[in-house]
Amino acid sequence: MNILVVGTRNAKKRLEIIAALAGWSLSVLDLSSFPGAPEVVEDRDTFEGNAAKKAEELARALGHWVLGEDSGLVVPALSGAPGVWSARYAGPQHNDDDNNAKLLTDMAGVTDRRGHYVTCAALANPQGVVVASVRGECHGTILKESRGAGGFGYDPYFFLPEYHKTFGELSAAVKQAISHRARALEKLRLMLPQVMG
Ligand code: IMP
Repeated sequence: MNILVVGTRNAKKRLEIIAALAGWSLSVLDLSSFPGAPEVVEDRDTFEGNAAKKAEELARALGHWVLGEDSGLVVPALSGAPGVWSARYAGPQHNDDDNNAKLLTDMAGVTDRRGHYVTCAALANPQGVVVASVRGECHGTILKESRGAGGFGYDPYFFLPEYHKTFGELSAAVKQAISHRARALEKLRLMLPQVMG
């Protein structure tokens, strides 16, 4: 069975990815098994670019199949921000609460409150060549107050009109079924027989 290394150090994202990979015919490891793995600098201006960079650099360093993932929140009324800067929106040393506070400040007075999450995932072979690249999106609106304590990041403000709830209020199982991450990984799963053999 092929080994697949999940190339993210974000603990909550990693848990969601590993849960989504359960049942795939792969032996899944994460970076905690590779303490010497390099830190990949996310300096591309697209989610696709950062996901590919993570997958390529880590696969080359580790000599294993690697799943690189980059994700974030896109708000069209803010010209696409926070976008690829989602994790560092309030600055390099800031946390989810600071990022959410900046988002609310930037959206004060904004009437078009639509937003969508994006996940791009890239699969690189042990030689560091990307053999598959997928994208998943999940659309909603940005609330002015937080609701629920589940998920992570912008989830308590991210409202799904069809469910009348935020990702902070929905169960992990529902998020796992409908999220941007789940949608991207399902596309990848369907490609696996072709690309991994
Ligand atoms: P990355 O680690 O550079 O891909 O940044 C991901 C960032 O995007 C996170 O730190 C969150 O701010 C945001 N993000 C991505 N996916 C989610 C999600 O499912 N829920 C909430 N925030 C997310």
